[in-house]
Amino acid sequence: MKKIINHLKNSNHIIMASHKKPDGDAIGSLIAMGLALDALNKDITLYNESPIPSAYRFLPSVERIVHQIKKTDTYDTAIILDCADFQRIGKISSVISKIPVIINIDHHITNNRFGNFNLIDTSACATAEIIYHLLIEMALPISNSAITTAIYTGILTDTGSFRFSNTNKAAFVICEKMVEAGVDPYNVARHVYGRYSLGRIKLLKMALESIEISYNGKISMMILTKDMLDETGTQPEDINGLINYAKNIENVKVAVLIHELSNGKGVSEKPENYHISLRSDGTVDVAAIASSFSGGGHNRAAGFSIESTLSNIKTQLLINIAIEL
Ligand code: 5GP
Ligand code: MN
Repeated sequence: MKKIINHLKNSNHIIMASHKKPDGDAIGSLIAMGLALDALNKDITLYNESPIPSAYRFLPSVERIVHQIKKTDTYDTAIILDCADFQRIGKISSVISKIPVIINIDHHITNNRFGNFNLIDTSACATAEIIYHLLIEMALPISNSAITTAIYTGILTDTGSFRFSNTNKAAFVICEKMVEAGVDPYNVARHVYGRYSLGRIKLLKMALESIEISYNGKISMMILTKDMLDETGTQPEDINGLINYAKNIENVKVAVLIHELSNGKGVSEKPENYHISLRSDGTVDVAAIASSFSGGGHNRAAGFSIESTLSNIKTQLLINIAIEL
């Protein structure tokens, strides 16, 4: 941490990025650290490849996040947040790889330490927790409502509202401090969890109907096709959280969500791009399974993308999971 702090003090043009298709932690960490570094009078660019999901557009200063950078911009330092591997930032990785110093700040167990400096804490409940400790160490003020709301939201969402196994003491201690500093928990919860579109609820209905249970009730599988998103007028961001319904079924040890990325009309014989989300009750290390398909994540929550047929993916996953049960 000390080396990172020294380096940051001496750098001037910093680009910060978090993973594409961002969640609350990816956006919250980006805003919190970016705005805190403003106090050092640096030139800071906050970048994310994807549009900001509607649930997070209420975050103060979210408009600071840009989705494109000018070719002429030059940076001496890049800070990559909440990314287990460098490619997670998306298309910009080819530009960022040319920046002299890359700082990698993350909490995923599969993080492959791609930075020149790596601040990885797999016991942290969220990257926002690591950012909080870093800002304290740097003696930067954390009173601004954009920073406090961003840290609170990052921790709230990555711990599944203090329900997931990564929920630790720091989650409560830091969130208490953020509330003391003025964050309104109800206001955050209302925006993040209380404003679903009707389309999202219809998608939930389809997702529930798609659940297949196998292996003596230990594996549940949910499938979402591009057609379902089209029919309900929803976006990929609306899929966030749906897998928890498959995971929370009594006796289920591993839940799988197969999400069709391009429009293959769900035809199982045709190779298509899919994103696979995996959740485990702790019996099976799904980060290891995701890594074997070139993805990653945490022991109990991981994912990967794959181009294959639906039936092939199902078979491969069932074999890989069943062997661990
Ligand atoms: P989700 O299933 O919600 O997309 O992601 C669950 C966890 O797995 C998150 O921590 C996320 O960062 C990680 N993850 C999901 N997809 C990928 C992937 O393609 N590559 C890597 N390295 N991690 C992923
Ligand atoms: Mn995270």
